[in-house]
Amino acid sequence: MQKDQFFLELAILRETFESGITRDFGWRISQLNALQKFLLECQKEIAAAVHDDFRKSTAETFLTETAYLRSEIRFALKHLSSWMKPRRVSVPLIYQPSKASCSPEPYGVVLIIGAWNYPFNLSLAPLISAIAAGNCAVIKPSEHAPHSSALIAEGLSHYLDQSAIRVIEGGMDVSQTLLAERFGYIFFTGSRTVGREVMHAAARHLTPLTLELGGKCPCIVEESGDVRVAARRIVWAKFLNGGQTCLAPDYVLVHEKREAELLTHMQEAITDFYGDDPRLSPDYPRIVNMEQYRRLEELLYGSSVLCGGKSDQGERYIAPTILRGVMPGSTIMHSEIFGPLLPVISYTEISEALDIIRSVDEPLALYLFSSDLDVQDRVVRDSRSGGVCINDLLFHAAIAGLPFGGVGKSGFGAYHGKAGFDAFSFQRSVLRRSLYPDPGLRYPPYGWWKFMLLKRLVTFFQ
Ligand code: NAD
Repeated sequence: MQKDQFFLELAILRETFESGITRDFGWRISQLNALQKFLLECQKEIAAAVHDDFRKSTAETFLTETAYLRSEIRFALKHLSSWMKPRRVSVPLIYQPSKASCSPEPYGVVLIIGAWNYPFNLSLAPLISAIAAGNCAVIKPSEHAPHSSALIAEGLSHYLDQSAIRVIEGGMDVSQTLLAERFGYIFFTGSRTVGREVMHAAARHLTPLTLELGGKCPCIVEESGDVRVAARRIVWAKFLNGGQTCLAPDYVLVHEKREAELLTHMQEAITDFYGDDPRLSPDYPRIVNMEQYRRLEELLYGSSVLCGGKSDQGERYIAPTILRGVMPGSTIMHSEIFGPLLPVISYTEISEALDIIRSVDEPLALYLFSSDLDVQDRVVRDSRSGGVCINDLLFHAAIAGLPFGGVGKSGFGAYHGKAGFDAFSFQRSVLRRSLYPDPGLRYPPYGWWKFMLLKRLVTFFQ
């Protein structure tokens, strides 16, 4: 897009926001319904676009993209009127007669920069929150999922109010051009490296922002509990989306007594889900591009493979792979894997597992399989992560009532459900006072008696 055209579009959005239409309850509802319609009517096109981008199956796209987004919209439609209501605040006696309230207000024109790995979800879930909160929005989907990006741009231009919501496609350059402008809020999903740059750009305009970043999500399999179920759930969550999920278990820490059993069940689960040759499975995606493929191949060659390990550059295929004998200090433990390689490390005491987790930067999620309530409490208490899911994986991010986001190096700010509405709103405090009475006590000159009286009043009635 030409720069002039881009500035023109931004000017239109600013004008629309100033007109006040997006603050209207009816407008918000109509746009959410229109987005719902797009997701319903274009289900097939959406599945085809994601398949063309990295060969993801229709079923996975339904579960992790469209079905999730539709439930997020339903939740927003159901609760929007209560979210929008101003909150009455009680006023201390000394400030009476007055009325105080606080209301969620939109930021203005917001910028949403999406990652490629759940291309619809990561661009449109923040958009749902932005619309619900009454903002105009510019959406910049990732260039690494070009078919999905094109469909988002085309689809939204047909279904949504173009004077308030625009999609601008492109890569790093476009992203940087956008970030040079002043937005009311920035919502970024992506890597830590780019997150830092986005934060720098936001600082130039003092723009508030959310950073949804990645990290190494640990999964502990403790001594107690059903290891077969744990193995099946871990394999499902790890190899979904070809391992390219910010919330995927990055590495497994297993109690030494259950290690052999877990590894056997995990290998069985891989065969059950994807057959003897996962390359032939219609449910197993590919690595998104050559850069990522080469990065993962390098990690693969430096590791000891228990199962999987096959790759094919032509198809950008890397088999679901379990790695054994990985030491906590190995290269693969230095950064987020973000691909279908799963290191398994054994431990003797739970404190050892917790030490390993604490030696890595704060993850987006932490997983624990254990039937022991004391262990569950201890792991939650003695660790830090954006979210926790016990005896399962990923699903904490699907519950609309649970805020989703990171902590420390996995990002800050949260969204989904009401948390998303709050992220895209600021709280505006309004105090309505009466002009009378107007006692002289508050005004100078403050003699000794007046000061004493004021001191008492302020101490006892504030
Ligand atoms: P990325 O950081 O490479 O790109 C994200 C977006 O930033 C893209 O739209 C891209 O065009 C843009 N961008 C790239 N370089 C830029 C620059 N220099 N300045 C401004 N914008 C720039 O991330 P990705 O490869 O698309 O996604 C993978 C990463 O995202 C992983 O680390 C993963 O963990 C993380 N992620 C986090 C979440 C979450 O919800 N926390 C969800 C999905 C992915």
